[in-house]
Amino acid sequence: MADDADRAQELGALYERALRVPVRALKARVASDAAAPAVCADCGDAIPPARRAAWPGARRCLSCQQQHEAR
Ligand SMILES: [Zn+2]
Repeated sequence: MADDADRAQELGALYERALRVPVRALKARVASDAAAPAVCADCGDAIPPARRAAWPGARRCLSCQQQHEAR
């Protein structure tokens, strides 16, 4: 049946689109993680890997980020 084939193709395209987004988001996340400095932009202390993992792209250590947000 042509209708089923069309629907299958449509579904396939939908899945393809749905799957492509997280991959792209993941790549952007990895890229921003790689671009993020390993040291705090404010105090120069090393940013703990756990913080960088929890917050990809973090440019400050936790205490500097808290001060920055309090400002
Ligand atoms: Zn800091």
